[in-house]
Amino acid sequence: MTIRPILIHPDPRLKKRCDPVTEITDDLRAAAEDMLETMYDAPGVGLAGPQVGLMSRILVMDCVKDPEAKPRPMVLMNPEVTWASEETNTYEEGCLSIPEQYADVTRPKEVKVRWLGLDGEAHEEQFGGLWATCVQHEIDHLDGKLFIDYLTPLKRQLITRKMQKLKREKARL
Ligand SMILES: [Zn+2]
Repeated sequence: MTIRPILIHPDPRLKKRCDPVTEITDDLRAAAEDMLETMYDAPGVGLAGPQVGLMSRILVMDCVKDPEAKPRPMVLMNPEVTWASEETNTYEEGCLSIPEQYADVTRPKEVKVRWLGLDGEAHEEQFGGLWATCVQHEIDHLDGKLFIDYLTPLKRQLITRKMQKLKREKARL
């Protein structure tokens, strides 16, 4: 397993719609393992393919926050929201591609998601709490959408400028 570098916004790859997974290859399995390791290392609760430059509809997540509890690493391919609650929830979101920036985003409180698992089977599950926020945030990534796209243009610009500065500083090191 390898920790892969995480792309930082702005990056054209973070704005692209990803292609569906058509075949579960060994490369894809290895990528899923790497993505989980990269996510845990960051640390984060979710990571989507494009964030490591993999332009396929694949995401990983584990929203078990309690260090005493058993981890639940999940790999979702071709995820689709099949139902969303009318009730919404506002959560202060962050993103591994937009380090140290947080903002309130309102999304459906609960969602039902269908996906293809690494076992080649279709799965469906209803998510609530942090899991619901996370899965929607990660699915957005597969459509080239970031959480800052929900903010006002002004706030978005401010964060983008900070990220450009961060990238310039990193490039100089
Ligand atoms: Zn993100």
